[in-house]
Amino acid sequence: MSRDTEQMQTALVIGAGIMGLSSAWALSRAGYAVRVIEQDEVPNPRGASVDDHRLIRHAYGAQAGYMRMIDPAYAAWDLLFREAGQRPYVQTGVLALTASPRGWLADSRAALRADGHAVEDLSAEAVAQRFPFLSAAGIHDAFQLAPGGVLLARRIVQALAGLLARRGVPILRGRTMAVDTGRRTVTLEDGTHHAADTLVVAAGPWGPRLVPGLAARVRPTRQIVVRLAAPAASAAAWARAPMLLDLSEDGGFYAVPPVAGTPLKIGDHRFAPTADPDGPRAATAAERDAILDLARHRIRDLDSYRVLSAAACWYDVEPGERFVVEPLGDRAFVMSGFSGHGFKFGALLGLAVARAAGDPALAGALAGWAAGETPPPPGLLVDIEQDRIA
Ligand SMILES: Cc1cc2nc3c(=O)[nH]c(=O)nc-3n(C[C@H](O)[C@H](O)[C@H](O)COP(=O)(O)OP(=O)(O)OC[C@H]3O[C@@H](n4cnc5c(N)ncnc54)[C@H](O)[C@@H]3O)c2cc1C
Repeated sequence: MSRDTEQMQTALVIGAGIMGLSSAWALSRAGYAVRVIEQDEVPNPRGASVDDHRLIRHAYGAQAGYMRMIDPAYAAWDLLFREAGQRPYVQTGVLALTASPRGWLADSRAALRADGHAVEDLSAEAVAQRFPFLSAAGIHDAFQLAPGGVLLARRIVQALAGLLARRGVPILRGRTMAVDTGRRTVTLEDGTHHAADTLVVAAGPWGPRLVPGLAARVRPTRQIVVRLAAPAASAAAWARAPMLLDLSEDGGFYAVPPVAGTPLKIGDHRFAPTADPDGPRAATAAERDAILDLARHRIRDLDSYRVLSAAACWYDVEPGERFVVEPLGDRAFVMSGFSGHGFKFGALLGLAVARAAGDPALAGALAGWAAGETPPPPGLLVDIEQDRIA
């Protein structure tokens, strides 16, 4: 061990999903000697972070705290992408529509306009005219937003793993069985123990098993996505389409357009029942059909689309969709409760945790900000907010 390494603060990160890898990257940038422990391969196809895409958008219903975290999130991605030497992001904009006069869409519009975002209102007819692959039936209200897009999630996880390798941060393969947050030690399945000055537990849907008390607040749920190939008649229009958020209360769905060689994907954002994250990843025919049924009223001629695959992916659900990014005593942190909206904030939350690790005042204020309830404490986002990618 070199003299420099001896004097460095150490950090241990459990989990190599977007939260763990981003935290390891940020802690390494902050001067820590970091190790990551991951139970599976990296990128981990069983993890919540590893899929073709994850969406980033300012439209956030009445959750203005998260809406205001989007610009800092873009700046954090920009920093990460610059260091990685690639930009795995495609701007698509957002199309939101609903059958209801009140609710998420109306709340989003009010919050966006209050903060000066340009929202373009659309009639049902305008939606169908602009996007001929969609049906206007039952649309009461709609808007489009120019910013927003698709983070190419698997590529981002790969890029982060590459950045860590270049920084000399090891990702050790092993299953953590027990965490002592007071001592900042963990015990692996093979009986080995690891300790560090700072500990971050970012175990995704497995987190409630590891962190005492977390299971009372966060539950793992099995969410289904269906990947499709559009027929030739609408393929070109889909390739230019915005992300689609259909917020009908009796079963809406979201659609991610096919960008950068990825397939069109549809899914249901409503929370599924609690399920063991070690459960099967393949979706049943009934689960696939239930998702297709949600989209049939909106996507014209859906039965002419080819189903490429259907799969399950786990959310770690906090009932109010508030992130649990909190100190667990002195210099130990949990990152959990990301439900279906955490990925977009991965780089930002990693940078925030690394800053809080070195500053007890920031650590104390981290939880409220990450829960979307309080403004960022002074100093948390300094230097992150200078650039945007959309
Ligand atoms: C279908 C779907 C769609 C989504 N869409 C969006 C979206 O559009 N926009 C958005 O922002 N977010 C979205 N999300 C949410 C987002 O993907 C997650 O919030 C985010 O990826 C969570 O990252 P994570 O690092 O916490 O978890 P994970 O990626 O699951 O990483 C946790 C890692 O910890 C490891 N681990 C667990 N236990 C142990 C242990 N005991 N020992 C060692 N390692 C362990 C796991 O193997 C895993 O690799 C979506 C999620 C899903 C499932």
